[in-house]
Amino acid sequence: MSQDSISRRDALRRAALFGAVAVTPSLLSLGCGKKELACTDTAGLDPADLALRNQLGYVDHSTEAGKNCSGCILYKPAGEGQCGGCTAVKGPINPQGYCKSWAQKPA
Ligand code: SF4
Repeated sequence: MSQDSISRRDALRRAALFGAVAVTPSLLSLGCGKKELACTDTAGLDPADLALRNQLGYVDHSTEAGKNCSGCILYKPAGEGQCGGCTAVKGPINPQGYCKSWAQKPA
């Protein structure tokens, strides 16, 4: 086995560890001591609602600059630090989330 393949294996192992941590954000604490909000529990959704959620590409943390659920006209806020809702996407919605149906909330 070459040194190169060991490095690749090591890199994959580290990536897997990182992924395991990334999919359990509710266990992570932010630097300020607050838990990171995770709105990913879709256990209560029926298959059609889950399919639509996936089809619209809902993500718990937006990667679109300036676009997140809290700035979307379809977002239904809940209390501070809680998952909200959405009139288009069923299930818990993170104010920092995003999907393809994002529409800017009027100022
Ligand atoms: Fe978030 Fe999409 Fe719902 Fe807008 S439509 S609140 S971006 S999930």
